[in-house]
Amino acid sequence: MKLDNDFNDIDAIGDDHVGSSSETPMRKDAFRLNASEKIEIIRDDVRHIMETLGLDLSDDSLKGTPNRVAKMFVNEIFGGLDPKKKPSASTFENKYKYGEMLVEKNISVYSTCEHHLLPIVGKAHVAYISSGKVVGLSKMNRIVDYFAKRPQVQERLTIQIVKELQNVLDTEDVACVIDAKHLCVNSRGIRDIESSTVTSEFGGKFKEKETRREFLDYIKLDTQF
Ligand SMILES: [Zn+2]
Repeated sequence: MKLDNDFNDIDAIGDDHVGSSSETPMRKDAFRLNASEKIEIIRDDVRHIMETLGLDLSDDSLKGTPNRVAKMFVNEIFGGLDPKKKPSASTFENKYKYGEMLVEKNISVYSTCEHHLLPIVGKAHVAYISSGKVVGLSKMNRIVDYFAKRPQVQERLTIQIVKELQNVLDTEDVACVIDAKHLCVNSRGIRDIESSTVTSEFGGKFKEKETRREFLDYIKLDTQF
């Protein structure tokens, strides 16, 4: 009975997409196996799932799937679990003495919901006010992508991006807004294809009303290129 209740609780949390902490929950032995050892194990696991579902893996179209999925999990869509893939923390000196906020808009987010292992697809908008250090613009995209390539909840992804940039840039003045569709909501469960989820994290000066307003106004700018 106890076990049943626990599973019900876990199910309820999953459908409400509640995250537990700003750190991705990792096992202590997470890196005991190397990438190719992980791929080998996951390949067997995926094969087992497919066979359990009743699929015939001797079919030409299906036989490569376990290996393809295993490689995709380890090297691509969950590649951001590997700290070695974290973008380097190199920064530049703010030579222009540009003291206003810098906003990088519409950064593509391709992540995976950790409760259903279905895609999260959306856009991130990231801003910071330099304290003397600046980063290359593409570094912001890379940081978003690194943390997106994990099983995620959108709230944690937003916080992880802000914390990393605060760290790299040596300032609290960092903000991130993410607007994303969760395929677990759009394609199953309540099947609401139109809804999207907005999360935000405002650090330092972005907690002040005016600075926050300026950032949100820039995001709304609809420049035609
Ligand atoms: Zn989900």
